[in-house]
Amino acid sequence: MEILDNIPLELKSEDVMESLRLGKKGPSMKDMVAEILEELMPLAKPKALYKESYIGKRGETTVEIDGVEFKSSILLKNLEIAERVFPYVVTAGRELEVIEISKEDMMKLFLYDAVKELILERAFYYFEDYLKQNYALGLMSRMNPGSLNDWPVSQQKYLFQLFGDVEALIGVRLTPGYLMDPIKSVSGIYFPTEILFQSCMLCKRESCRKRKAPYDPEKEKQYKTGKRELH
Ligand code: SF4
Repeated sequence: MEILDNIPLELKSEDVMESLRLGKKGPSMKDMVAEILEELMPLAKPKALYKESYIGKRGETTVEIDGVEFKSSILLKNLEIAERVFPYVVTAGRELEVIEISKEDMMKLFLYDAVKELILERAFYYFEDYLKQNYALGLMSRMNPGSLNDWPVSQQKYLFQLFGDVEALIGVRLTPGYLMDPIKSVSGIYFPTEILFQSCMLCKRESCRKRKAPYDPEKEKQYKTGKRELH
């Protein structure tokens, strides 16, 4: 198990404006973003927690990772050729939660949220690169508990079980509904794959601004029938 807690972070007003497609907004918006960055960046301490884990027993719809059983037909299918996987939790950090903003100030709330999201995104990419560089990995995909009905968010507790006390390790805890607190955190399992898998390919949710791949009915059929084409 390893914790990355010294993640280099550089975020400029332009990055935030660009990610929010606010390029054409006036200088006052840019000033506001700059002020928020000035406040948040010195506090930001994003972290990543991961471990190198091994596949154990496979059942009909279950798969064991380091002795912990996960229930998901799609995860099982995705791990059919895997021996080694990398469970992870990445967070923008509890340190950012100390700032309270009035619920009335919608614009400020929106911008704070966007900056925290970008901090999380940067931390996640750093973690991804770190894995690739340190474990000589080929093509990898990932799945997150809660992204598909087949692997509900309640399975988050087993993912956390793999690490022990995640709150003590990196400050992320699970709410009674198995959501992560702080909310600007992501968790999942990285696995080797022959073709790229993205949960979005099996997800019919419309107008999701986080969609990374189009819904693919053919792919869904392959997962349902168990006939996944491996190229
Ligand atoms: S489309 Fe959106 S909700 Fe569906 S899996 Fe992708 S990111 Fe998640």
